[in-house]
Amino acid sequence: MSTPKPLKFAAVARRIARDRASGASAVVDCGACTMCCREPQRVELTPAELANPVLRHDGKHLLRQPDGACTHLVDGRCEVYDQRPRSCRAFDCRALAVAMCKALSAPGVTRAGYSRVARPCDAEDVAYATAVHKNLLRIVGQAPGVDAVDAGCAAVNVPESEVVLERRELLTMSPEARGEWIAQQARIAADLWREVSDERR
Ligand code: SF4
Ligand code: SF4
Repeated sequence: MSTPKPLKFAAVARRIARDRASGASAVVDCGACTMCCREPQRVELTPAELANPVLRHDGKHLLRQPDGACTHLVDGRCEVYDQRPRSCRAFDCRALAVAMCKALSAPGVTRAGYSRVARPCDAEDVAYATAVHKNLLRIVGQAPGVDAVDAGCAAVNVPESEVVLERRELLTMSPEARGEWIAQQARIAADLWREVSDERR
């Protein structure tokens, strides 16, 4: 079996930014993960998506089930995968890993999937990771409580207007609840990284 080519931090971060800015589908190896379909977020639809009879919505957002999961998540799968909204296609949770990458040391892993963002491994990676981290600190400094994924996308230079997932519920949470949510994401990412590291041994 051939060894997979190692990921390069700067290349992955740039790819995330490029895909988000161009509207291309994100390239994330989701496997069985459906975490982002269960998150406290609302997927806003475009006019064309609102007119698609396959998608169940309230006139603006996809409907959700009582437990908060998307209405189209059935038995752990997206029942409208081929027609899923642009927001779902573009979502790239690796931005969280980018956001959490402490400039030079911490490797990143998604909150739920195993699409890794590599540890910075050469001078270009290090310079890029440092710039991303600085940008992230600036963004978070300007907008305390901003969601880590959106901040991660912004940190890799995706303009705010391209941040596709509306996180209004997060914005309406109390600062304590939002802080707890972000801390929870960090814990999940750390646990997953530990799991991935254990698998590698
Ligand atoms: S439409 Fe599909 S991909 Fe999008 S949130 Fe719902 S279940 Fe997930
Ligand atoms: S959280 Fe990431 S890995 Fe999981 S389903 Fe969403 S995009 Fe895929």
